[in-house]
Amino acid sequence: MQDTRNRLLTWIEVDLPALEENLGLFRALLPENTRLLLVVKANAYGHGLGLVTRFAGSSCADHIGVHSLQEAAAVRAAGWSGPLLIMGYVPHLCLADAMEIGAELTVFDQETIARLARLGRRLGRPAECHLKLETGTNRHGIAPEDLPRYLERFAGEPGLRLAGLSTHFANIEDTTDHSYAKEQLRLFGECGRIVRAAGHTDTLFHTACSAAVLTLSETAFDLARAGIGAYGLWPSRETLVSTRERHGEQVPLRPALTWKTRIAQIKWVKPGAFVGYGCSHRTGRRTRLAILPVGYSDGYDRGLSGLGHVLVRGRRAPVLGRVCMNLLMTDVTDIPGARLEDEVVLIGRQDTEEIRAADLAASAQTIAYEIVSRLGRHIPRFALDAAGEVVDCEEP
Ligand SMILES: *Cc1c(COP(=O)(O)O)cnc(C)c1O
Repeated sequence: MQDTRNRLLTWIEVDLPALEENLGLFRALLPENTRLLLVVKANAYGHGLGLVTRFAGSSCADHIGVHSLQEAAAVRAAGWSGPLLIMGYVPHLCLADAMEIGAELTVFDQETIARLARLGRRLGRPAECHLKLETGTNRHGIAPEDLPRYLERFAGEPGLRLAGLSTHFANIEDTTDHSYAKEQLRLFGECGRIVRAAGHTDTLFHTACSAAVLTLSETAFDLARAGIGAYGLWPSRETLVSTRERHGEQVPLRPALTWKTRIAQIKWVKPGAFVGYGCSHRTGRRTRLAILPVGYSDGYDRGLSGLGHVLVRGRRAPVLGRVCMNLLMTDVTDIPGARLEDEVVLIGRQDTEEIRAADLAASAQTIAYEIVSRLGRHIPRFALDAAGEVVDCEEP
């Protein structure tokens, strides 16, 4: 495995043992016969779809979930031959391609189902459909009152199999009050009884995302869909609080991703000097600047202008002035050892200090999901083993 990190301006490291631990934790929180689906949409939440898929092959993941057909094809290209669920919409022209690669489809309209039925009959094997129920999120999904009409489409139809019945919670990660989620669950349960009564005994029921697994065990059913938590990030502050209330302090999620760059110039500037576009920062003292070759086009949020921190030699250095397209400026006046080409951590640990995706999200007024999922696709990703050796990489 070629380790090219020394030649790069910026790169991402993925700690495979951390992924393993987090998945093991989800496994342990779930009932024994609940399957675990690992969500790898959005380039595996920025961790690298190929890397994470190859890792999933040797982990306790039973199923993989993606948003689009393109992502499903990338999962197959990375060698995953197991169950693969597309959770988003697939355009009609591409339904045959989705069936060709053996993907299961999430369905929520009659027109798509009719086309899948014809395709399934023509191919001589049924389209594997997961029917998505609307229970209160008002995103994809069919109204519970329409369920009988949908079930009629499946009855005696050799081109279709009802492989799953699913729904998605509206605010299980935003609140410690689960009454809305419980109402969604109640509706789901009612629909589930109708589906079982129609003879679909092997249909997988699934509702849980990470926050649901962590905080509301009755959401588990046959399959749980873990995304953010598998990567070691908390779905929200409230989820952390609820989880600690339920399980004590003993639920350690370990962030798997570290985002790094290196110092590309060091220089002193005078007191009163302006730094960055818009003369957005003015130094109050003689300041030692470290220029970093990373900017908003790499996924470093421009909202972190004047607010973010990076780690240099194990210490926090503030971002000065506006984040540029490819560069940002940091203050290393108080880190006298800082040198040209020193490794800098943008997200992750360095010695005893840590910058979490959630910290950057709070400063940029967003959520950790957005911080990691928008990390540039062009940034090379390296998978590391327990000894810190590079064991896989994904270079664009
Ligand atoms: C993204 C997604 C998930 C995973 O959610 P996390 O909060 O990241 O665990 C589960 N189900 C659906 C339908 C999703 O779109």
